[in-house]
Amino acid sequence: MIYLDHNATTPLDPRVLDAMMPFLTDRFGNAASRHHSLGCDAATATETAREQVASTIGADPRESVWTSGATESDNLALQGVFGSPVYKKRHLITVATEHRAVLDTCEVLQRQGAQVTFLPVDTDGRLDLDRLVSAMTDETLLVSVMHANNETGVVHPIAEIGKRCRARGVLFHTDATQSFAKEPIDVNAMHIDLLSASAHKIHGPKGVGLLYVRRRDPRVRCQALLHGGGHERGLRSGTLNVPGIVGMGHAATLPFDTGIEALRDRLEQGLLTTLNRVQVNGGRARRLTTTTNLSFDGVDGATLMKRMPDLAVSSSSACTSALLQPSYVLGAMGCNEERTRGSVRFSLGRFNTVDEIDAAIAMVADAVTTLRQRGDDQRGVTRS
Ligand SMILES: *Cc1c(COP(=O)(O)O)cnc(C)c1O
Repeated sequence: MIYLDHNATTPLDPRVLDAMMPFLTDRFGNAASRHHSLGCDAATATETAREQVASTIGADPRESVWTSGATESDNLALQGVFGSPVYKKRHLITVATEHRAVLDTCEVLQRQGAQVTFLPVDTDGRLDLDRLVSAMTDETLLVSVMHANNETGVVHPIAEIGKRCRARGVLFHTDATQSFAKEPIDVNAMHIDLLSASAHKIHGPKGVGLLYVRRRDPRVRCQALLHGGGHERGLRSGTLNVPGIVGMGHAATLPFDTGIEALRDRLEQGLLTTLNRVQVNGGRARRLTTTTNLSFDGVDGATLMKRMPDLAVSSSSACTSALLQPSYVLGAMGCNEERTRGSVRFSLGRFNTVDEIDAAIAMVADAVTTLRQRGDDQRGVTRS
């Protein structure tokens, strides 16, 4: 199996597993039970991990909250800020291509009376900054724009966005799940007030994530979603997932990109030169070094994937493909139905090799050629 679906999830790095293993066995203490050495040991381990993730984004360790993953972090950021009695403003601005964890939460807030603006993107998935600024009103409490898109890899200029939010006194949340520990992030230089990340997208374990919440200039007020014991400074109660947290901390310290961009370019160029009628979705935008989203004219993405059982890719976001609906992200980029249906996302990780990429190119080229031929034959039959 050649695995090119890392934006859905990544395999655990063996070094991360090594760091976690003691906390799955002998060092099993509860980080809240600090009256004995096992609990203290667990607490110390989670604080070390907190320093590791905080330093990845230039934050203070006290500003990070452990969660169960980026879905919870997005929920806590948006619902937590809008649920805080301190804030009276009721307008939120986000983008049509955000992850479902943000969009669905926005819909919940809408039902609770918030006003939400969903900004459009251009044909390469880019946001118009002037449009963002003109959408801001005196009622705007929060802007939520993801750093890198999970389907296309398109990177939004979050430093520019943060600067504009700060100038207008608007809070800025970014879902950085696909860029955390891959792209450089500095929450202070970029004026980020809240940031979501997840361990399993960076060769860490599933079920653990992070929400960065700014403590000063400005101090962000956030209401808890989970109550019961007041862990995480009251922001997220519940016994800490110590092995997972240790894993996320360790994963954040490992350099993610070790020649992945060269492999991604090799894959993209290989397919563009072997096949005709292939389009790169978001090709003119700045993109993550790990991701390419291609549309193969005259081919159905799901059918194509079925012809390549030894190649793990995605025909849409893994979270939405369960619903079998065409990608709303490509739809927002103005792709017509055919281009959307023919799209395949290839996302690379730390352990992919040149040989795998070359084999993947051959598999895709072969399958696309066969399916196109078959389509031509069928059209020939119905015509005669
Ligand atoms: C994967 C992903 C999520 C969800 O993260 P989980 O940790 O699986 O809940 C949210 N946002 C983006 C951009 C993602 O890629």
